[in-house]
Amino acid sequence: MLIATKHVVVQFITLIVLVAGAVVAIPPAPADASTLRRVAVVPFLFEGQPVPYPISDVEAAVFGNGVNNNGLSVANYVREDSSTLTTSGGVEAAAAIVGDVIGGGSWIRTRARATDGAGHCLHVAGGMEEWRNQIYAVIDETVLDNYDTVLFLGAHPCLESDGYGPRGEPWVMVRRVDAWWTMRLILHEFNHSIGLHHSNQLRCTAPDGQPVPISTDCSVHNYDDPFSVMGDWRLKLNNAVHMAQLGYLPMSNISAPDRGTPGTSVTIRLTPAHPMLAPVPTVSGQPFLPYLTLEPRYQMIQIDRCRTVICYNVQDGRRFMYLEFRQPYGVFDQSLASDEDFTESSDVARGLTVRLGRSYNESPSVSSIEALVLVDTNPVSPGTEGSRDDFLDAPLAPGESLEDPIGAFTITHAGSGIAAYGTATTPYIDVRITWRQPFPFLLPNLRLPCFLPGTLIPCPWPGPGPVLPGSFLSGPQS
Ligand SMILES: [Zn+2]
Repeated sequence: MLIATKHVVVQFITLIVLVAGAVVAIPPAPADASTLRRVAVVPFLFEGQPVPYPISDVEAAVFGNGVNNNGLSVANYVREDSSTLTTSGGVEAAAAIVGDVIGGGSWIRTRARATDGAGHCLHVAGGMEEWRNQIYAVIDETVLDNYDTVLFLGAHPCLESDGYGPRGEPWVMVRRVDAWWTMRLILHEFNHSIGLHHSNQLRCTAPDGQPVPISTDCSVHNYDDPFSVMGDWRLKLNNAVHMAQLGYLPMSNISAPDRGTPGTSVTIRLTPAHPMLAPVPTVSGQPFLPYLTLEPRYQMIQIDRCRTVICYNVQDGRRFMYLEFRQPYGVFDQSLASDEDFTESSDVARGLTVRLGRSYNESPSVSSIEALVLVDTNPVSPGTEGSRDDFLDAPLAPGESLEDPIGAFTITHAGSGIAAYGTATTPYIDVRITWRQPFPFLLPNLRLPCFLPGTLIPCPWPGPGPVLPGSFLSGPQS
């Protein structure tokens, strides 16, 4: 789903009655997480288009074991992403995809035209529906009802964009199946098709205009979370929140601490979202890192930022703070250690990644779930400030703390190490949460009207008008 970048200015004026120690129940995890998805691949050609590559390449990109593709395939991605579900003893029980390439082993020749008479791509002119109709003129449309996901794979420059087809199915372009960019696009759209939304960047400023991790004056930058394929298109596994949404994280592995008395702390040991144990071979011959039943083994921390009886949607639906520990893993997350994408990758591998979002177990509908946002705990990054790469150092570094003025708590990266569990070991981060004294009234920053000197002409937004700080920014902290 491509959406033009929009800046959502978070503004709210709300009066909240405080009840200290209010506990909000966390709803249960999805009861029956689907672990087997049926996928139909529809490879189609435009009118007059030569065959770009063998249909076997398409099949390999989706269903293959990645042997001839650097380990890259949708099937491998799903298996690695869900490997937490693998039981002890190395028995593989991760999620999987099965399915078919429609078309009897050939590209589906359609009468769909990619361009108009002037050579402009028809995509922007509602061409997708026409393309769909031309495909359905060739194949039996009802066959697709047998599948959970339909991937329409075209191979034409006019398919550089992607999106949802008329029935909600993802459209994906494939120009070269061995290209990383292409695989990213397939995986991004596939993840949409199974219910995931985007992972974005949250950029906030203080009343004095300085960038801060969290405030009441924030904008959202679509896509730009660098640590997820649902973010800025890097070829990465899903983050822990999305794993939980898909049912890949057992409820017992998610820590959701109750709010404590102001001034008290709780320390929670967080292990990687994806397993970090020794690889074993699998039937497909690809290395696979099994999950062992480790107790306790928290792979995500979910902190309720709501501290009131009347718990409105905190900050545009971002009611929860999610903490995650990522480590290089498998084929897709190996590059968290080092590649051209992650010259500062040690930050994510050493640090605590912080996101805000709605409850992970709300209805898994792309349209109804607010996208996640990544919090930049180092918002002042010389050289990259204001750019997408500014968020490469977003995770909280060892020894550092992040205060959430809205949730009235502080999290601290209290150290890391390696813990032994039976014959296996796993790295961990100790996370300390210190509960703060909330304020009875939560007021936003108010920007006073501003006029150009000597006139009644308003200043250009946001203008240099003075800002009255919100009460929580100026009040005492415990
Ligand atoms: Zn998208």
